Amino acid sequence: MLNGWLRKLQKLSTVRQILTYLDSANPTSENCRDFTNLSYPQWQHRFLIARLNLALWLAFFFFLTRTILNLIYFIQGKYSSLEEWGIARILVHFILLSCILLLRTAWGHRHLGLIFLSSSWAVTMIKQISDTITGNVNPEFFVWMLTFCTQATLIPVKWFLHLISQITILGYYFSVNQIIGFDVASFDWNFVKMCFGIFWLCLICDLSVYLYESLQKTEFNTKLQLEVAYQELHSAEAKYRSILENSVEGIFQSTPDGRYIYANPTLAKIFGYDSPEQLMAKVNDIGKQIYVNSSRREEFLDLINRDGTVLKFESQAYRADGSIVWISENARAVNDRQGNLIVYEGDIEDITERKWAEAEIKKALEIEKELNQLKSQFISMASHEFRTPLTTILASAEALEYYGHKWDEEKKRTYLHRIQATVQHMTGLVNDILVIGKTESGNLDFNPAPLDLESFCRDTIEDIRLSIDSQYSLDFVVQETKQLITKKSAQTSVLNKILQLDSNQQNHRKNDSLLVAQNQSTGQKPEVVLIDEKLLQHILHNLLWNAVKYSPQGGQIYLKLYYLNNHAIFQIQDEGIGIPATEKKYLFNSFYRAQNVANISGTGLGLTIVKNFVDLHRGQIFVESEVGVGTTFTVILPLDLSGKEGTLNT
Ligand code: ADP
Repeated sequence: MLNGWLRKLQKLSTVRQILTYLDSANPTSENCRDFTNLSYPQWQHRFLIARLNLALWLAFFFFLTRTILNLIYFIQGKYSSLEEWGIARILVHFILLSCILLLRTAWGHRHLGLIFLSSSWAVTMIKQISDTITGNVNPEFFVWMLTFCTQATLIPVKWFLHLISQITILGYYFSVNQIIGFDVASFDWNFVKMCFGIFWLCLICDLSVYLYESLQKTEFNTKLQLEVAYQELHSAEAKYRSILENSVEGIFQSTPDGRYIYANPTLAKIFGYDSPEQLMAKVNDIGKQIYVNSSRREEFLDLINRDGTVLKFESQAYRADGSIVWISENARAVNDRQGNLIVYEGDIEDITERKWAEAEIKKALEIEKELNQLKSQFISMASHEFRTPLTTILASAEALEYYGHKWDEEKKRTYLHRIQATVQHMTGLVNDILVIGKTESGNLDFNPAPLDLESFCRDTIEDIRLSIDSQYSLDFVVQETKQLITKKSAQTSVLNKILQLDSNQQNHRKNDSLLVAQNQSTGQKPEVVLIDEKLLQHILHNLLWNAVKYSPQGGQIYLKLYYLNNHAIFQIQDEGIGIPATEKKYLFNSFYRAQNVANISGTGLGLTIVKNFVDLHRGQIFVESEVGVGTTFTVILPLDLSGKEGTLNT
């Protein structure tokens, strides 16, 4: 209820004004805009102005009420004269009002000590001086004590001013009056008690002012130190924040359950987010959203939980747009005092460029290694393939030179033919090397022209048949497409592409013969066949000669021709030694020869040339082989090279 009354009282405008005024009597951070920048002397100055103002008004009203009381008593006849309300009292009012006005001036602000003492003397001294003049010396212990107490409680700064104010009035009363000849000390018990009391009061007042002031000073110094410390902290925080924000590396703090609780702008940039806030809001499972291989998160956690740190932890990471970057992480586990894990923190570097560079270097090294291998293969091939025929040529020539005159014409011709054949073989070898050089530099002529494929194949077979032992059986057949059965996935996908089957059909097919049988119309011989005759001759010659070379005598060799949707498919099939499965992928590399052909001469260049020529036709070549069973090379060439359909690259 009392509180209710108080609240109601506070709502009255006069009360509110008084409260506001009282608030302003204390320079604080609420009513003083630059309070935090105030030094102690500045604060003391403002405090003194505010409190002097309050004390002066109180003193003024105190004397005004006393004067009014005197007047009332005089009117009521209780006083016979206006002695109590004389000139001295008017002077007190005047001085107090003057001090109040002076306090509002710049001069007054500069002489606050003087205003303090003037007001103090006005209150205490004027009455004494008037008493001295009137010869009615009388100590005003009550007024003095009230004055000293008021000063000490309302203006508890500058204890020295308080002391002066006390000494002057007491000094005046006890010494000046004494000197003039008044009896100022009666030495009765009450007087001594009053003197004793006023002495202790002065002492306590001065002491409390002094102590209050030193407390204020300490508080101010502490506040200043705090302020300095806060500013240092603030600038240190700003410094570290700037380092974190401008770091070229991404910096993070993440929780064990996979969220980022701090990320700097660089990290957001690495992961392709607009801001760290966006990254922190959107990523709530680092393992799934960041790592391409989500098991990397488990590895990261295992390492960091085991060692406390993770260094140069390299992984692929998703960016916001789904693209992938390579990152390298350094991180440590942060625990609380009890050793419980709180967060992981560390830095992340984008190493995509480095990884690319490493891959490039690796590729370059591999190429260099391959080149070196090729070089040594070439040297060993050349030393073998050139030395043997050269030895043959030399031996035949020497035999002709030394024994020619003894031989008949037939024998001489045999030796000469041997030399010619060997030179032809060497020329072929050099030509092969030149052809490879030309295709690799893009200088090989490619002239597709209309060609009757069936008679061309027949002639080719006939050519070879004439040059080989009759023990080999060499046949050419034009096959129906439904017999084109293959199990090789890469090959079937090319065939499917030729047949223009959609993936759905591919998935539902049972076998390839069925597939082709359903598309009989696609197996018609096309009207126009455009192929480079020279290159095709080289392709078929090479593959057929290999079939012969790597087949035992009496082996059956087939050249099969299929038509499929404007494509020609050649299959060269033998029952020879076959090719080891692990080596098939290297066959088209220059100078490469399988392990199982060491005893059969060759250069390892034939298939490289074949592959280059097939590529020129925008075709494809496949090999199926089983060691000891046989080999089938399949060459697929588009017959209409005018459009895109001719390209068979899968
Ligand atoms: P070369 O026959 O002169 O060695 P090629 O480039 O023509 O060179 O062939 C490369 C390698 O492919 C051969 O060394 C051989 O190991 C293997 N090869 C080619 N055709 C056949 C085949 N029909 N049967 C078995 N292996 C073959």
